[in-house]
Amino acid sequence: MARYTGLINKYREYLPVTDKTPVITLNEGNTPLIKADNLARAIGRDDLEIYLKYEGSNPTGSFKDRGMTMAVTKAVEEGSNAIICASTGNTSAAAAAYGAKAGVKCYVLIPDGYIALGKLSQAMMYGAKVIAISGNFDQALDAVKEISTNYPVTLVNSLNPYRIEGQKTGAFEIIEALEDAPDYHFIPVGNAGNITAYWKGYKEWHNLGKCSKLPKMMGIQAEGSAAIVKKQVIKNPQTIATAIRIGNPASWEKAEAARDESKGTIDMVSDEKIIEAYNLLASTEGILAEPASCATVAGIIKLKDTLKQNAKLVCILTGNGLKDPDSAIKYAKSPVEKTTSELKDIVKLLNF
Ligand SMILES: *Cc1c(COP(=O)(O)O)cnc(C)c1O
Repeated sequence: MARYTGLINKYREYLPVTDKTPVITLNEGNTPLIKADNLARAIGRDDLEIYLKYEGSNPTGSFKDRGMTMAVTKAVEEGSNAIICASTGNTSAAAAAYGAKAGVKCYVLIPDGYIALGKLSQAMMYGAKVIAISGNFDQALDAVKEISTNYPVTLVNSLNPYRIEGQKTGAFEIIEALEDAPDYHFIPVGNAGNITAYWKGYKEWHNLGKCSKLPKMMGIQAEGSAAIVKKQVIKNPQTIATAIRIGNPASWEKAEAARDESKGTIDMVSDEKIIEAYNLLASTEGILAEPASCATVAGIIKLKDTLKQNAKLVCILTGNGLKDPDSAIKYAKSPVEKTTSELKDIVKLLNF
């Protein structure tokens, strides 16, 4: 069997590519689906089968690589030699990496002061031109939309339909791993591209008879930027989960359609609950995911009494926790303790 060479090669018959398409890949996708029995027990629902899809193991550390391999591949196929995006961080890291691999110019606009350190360092190292604007993500997105309409540069935000095509492969991997769709699919919602993509992927394979059912789509927003839940644009969105700090989701209607068609829900969780879930996930399962990803775990905790007995849940952990070391150090329940180099002093701190 051929070794794994990225999601376009693996799923090409379900994607808008031909044999001539110049595939730009970093071998993204094929991420682990990890059974989380400790977490199920810790939240008092050990009847649940919880599976964590660890998207942090993608090449740039987030699910954005799934969409970016497609978007950059198609941009190159169509003759573009520059890409641009607005980003809360992970999109810029992915765009910059795939742009480097493809040998095209990459421009990224970020909200100054609101992106995690790891993400910024990635975009800089991959050689993108990084421009920090004195505004929020929504303003950055408006600017890049305008620029890509008027200048020779391809927009690679999730408004780019090829992003959604690449991201839908996450649903295929889940169906293959579980040999069916789960009962519930928990996912964080920022711009709502990913919930849109997973729903599309599940529906496509359901239509092909590759799964017997469709999951309820359970979208989770952060309370301070919960535009869809509150049914209003949030002018000044706030949350520690910077990847979903978005006040006017680009795929708002599609997220509502996924919710309604699947009879799921879109709910919200507070930053305090996100931090609790962030610590719980890491300390019970050994998985460090960034705060935005942990909104889903907080969502499971919030909604646990509404989930049916013995249900199968998939929870998308969208990004690697190492992206945001500042949050980890600030919110960790186990701080570093200091002492002398004397053995007796060290032993005093070990609670045997
Ligand atoms: C981009 C991102 C999200 C939000 O995804 P949307 O498609 O914008 O809803 C959530 N978590 C992480 C880590 C992200 O990078």
